[in-house]
Amino acid sequence: MNDSRTVACPRCAKPVRWGPESPFRPFCSERCKMIDLGAWASEEYRVEVKGTGDPDAGSAGSGQDSP
Ligand SMILES: [Zn+2]
Repeated sequence: MNDSRTVACPRCAKPVRWGPESPFRPFCSERCKMIDLGAWASEEYRVEVKGTGDPDAGSAGSGQDSP
């Protein structure tokens, strides 16, 4: 029974099931995918990372100031 394969999300290193249940693989979610694509830099997609109660809030993200 080696059917379920798991990969690590390139963004947050969270384990992601490699299957139809993970449409955003290898990313864990659409958010991680968009962030990796750099879409967050565009005005069309703003990522909220403040007070979302994310379990991944452990890693300290450097506050980047866009000009
Ligand atoms: Zn992720």
